[in-house]
Amino acid sequence: MTIFSWAFLAFQGIESIGASVLPSTPRAGEPVAIVLKHRQSVPEGCFGISGQRAVCIVGIPVDSRGLHAVDVGGEQVVVKLVPRKDRKGHVVFRVRTPKPSIAKGLADAGTAPVDGPVNGREAIRAATSVSAPKRLWSAPFEWPAEGGGHPFGVVRSYTRYRDGKLEKKWKGRHLGVDIGARRGSRVKATNDGRVILTGHFFGTGRCVYLDHGLGLFTMYFHLDAIDVKTGDTVKRGQTIGRVGSTGSSTAPHLHWEARIGRTSIDPTRLIPLSRKLAKLSKSPAHRGHSGFVTTGSVGARRLSRPNIPTVSR
Ligand SMILES: [Zn+2]
Repeated sequence: MTIFSWAFLAFQGIESIGASVLPSTPRAGEPVAIVLKHRQSVPEGCFGISGQRAVCIVGIPVDSRGLHAVDVGGEQVVVKLVPRKDRKGHVVFRVRTPKPSIAKGLADAGTAPVDGPVNGREAIRAATSVSAPKRLWSAPFEWPAEGGGHPFGVVRSYTRYRDGKLEKKWKGRHLGVDIGARRGSRVKATNDGRVILTGHFFGTGRCVYLDHGLGLFTMYFHLDAIDVKTGDTVKRGQTIGRVGSTGSSTAPHLHWEARIGRTSIDPTRLIPLSRKLAKLSKSPAHRGHSGFVTTGSVGARRLSRPNIPTVSR
């Protein structure tokens, strides 16, 4: 055997241990792709790309720090996170209550408007508790409305007023991206998928929930109108609704959200990640990006993969 062959074998050996991670410097709150090399079969929850590679997309919780471990395809992959810089914001929203002029008896009898919002908690939980067993998209994700976005994960202080009086003050992360856009302008599906829920709920206002398969969901809130119905198959760029200001909203805008399993992630980061994946699937297997990744490291905190069952529906 020549020196060349030995060097080649050594190189192959290193490659076969590994997985690589995209992006190479992941931050908390981002979707991250774990790329496994030299796979005879595609592990559950992953999808295959050219060159015998399998890809598993995981969500990193926004409050994570340091090293995070994920079990994928029988291997433990450890992802090193780059700390995120936090920006602060302030939001005031008012809760509308029946006007004092309404007679008490009438208010007790229920004066909610027919098309008014309802509590959607149960319906949302049920709809997002299962996902399609395969990836429903292939081309990169795209921006859903015309306008710039207010960043994901910002800590906002909220102030709730009832009947003009301060009722509650609290701080919380805004787990979506707000896109300022004209009322009535188009809201587009950011990728191919299936409509799993539409409704008019407290907080979200009129909303559309899309399943993109393997536990990846995108959501579109505060719509003026909804142009799709539950069960519809949608294509990337298809109009699914119109920008509005329904629910907890003070001006027309689109609140765009994404989740991997139960983990909220920055939806805008799906765009560069899916572009990189599209490029990677065209490149030869040995050109994969290695990034900050090790296997079997001790002391890393657990990072959950989409912990929801995938079923056909
Ligand atoms: Zn928002």
